[in-house]
Amino acid sequence: MDLRELAEDIRARFLEQGVTVPTSDIEQRLNSLVYDFKVPIEEARRSVVSYFAKLHPKEGVASETEVIYAKIADINTEDIWINLRVRVVQLWEPNSPSIAQVGLLGDETGTIKFTSWSNANLPILRDGQSYSIRNVVTKSWQGRFSVSLNKASEIAPLDEEVAVGRAEEEISGAIIDVQSGSGLVKRCPECNRVVVKGHCAEHGEVSGVYDLRVKGVLDNGEIVSDVLFNREMTERLTGITLEAAKEMAMEALDQNVAADAMKAVVIGRYYRVRGNKTPRWLLITDFEELPKMDEDEIDAVLKRAQGRL
Ligand SMILES: [Zn+2]
Repeated sequence: MDLRELAEDIRARFLEQGVTVPTSDIEQRLNSLVYDFKVPIEEARRSVVSYFAKLHPKEGVASETEVIYAKIADINTEDIWINLRVRVVQLWEPNSPSIAQVGLLGDETGTIKFTSWSNANLPILRDGQSYSIRNVVTKSWQGRFSVSLNKASEIAPLDEEVAVGRAEEEISGAIIDVQSGSGLVKRCPECNRVVVKGHCAEHGEVSGVYDLRVKGVLDNGEIVSDVLFNREMTERLTGITLEAAKEMAMEALDQNVAADAMKAVVIGRYYRVRGNKTPRWLLITDFEELPKMDEDEIDAVLKRAQGRL
């Protein structure tokens, strides 16, 4: 069936519902999806029906089109178009202006990285909110899969919450480094990105909201892991509250003093940490400090660390 025929077919279905949609409008949209965005024809048909059904919500045409949602754990092929029912698990800071949002989506079967491109002009996804996200493309890099949200993607918030099966991990080791970007940071009130010199990559000049975090490096004797402590965990870890960090910074006229104070507390100490695994970070949800290692053990760990860093 060519796109012209398909467009006629869709038009006829809408007519049965008492809705008139010009064939040319339908065909144009089909063309764009199939040729510009390489959407499979069946998916393009669903997308177009859903689009025009939304313009005429009372007729209920959309309910006839059943959408098939993929499970994250089943994603094993590159460059295919899928639909997902997911919750936003984590938002990261985009490292390029061409990226509107980047982070992790989760469903019952696991989590996957997503990238939402700026030129797609999609609605901003909120942390913790569940969505139906249709027409995303699977990507693969170094054996890890991700999904790309693009101009053809359709995002609709869900009322119910999607349960997320997380990959939890527990490790024990010494914190051997605290990375830059730790300590007292300011976040954009709109998108939660960390603001650099009062400037959000997406929203320009903003008056940021203070937050605390520690981006640590934990060495268990065999491998090093990037571990991220959020504000609550950072306050417990370092004993330095957000208020105290702000006071320190104001007194010294330097935002970095909080990070220095935190380094002084945590480097060389031994912890058992538990958290949610993302491709790069272990997002700490709980931890306990372990008895101090003796001087020789600390020395050995730090020496190994210096060899690697
Ligand atoms: Zn922003």
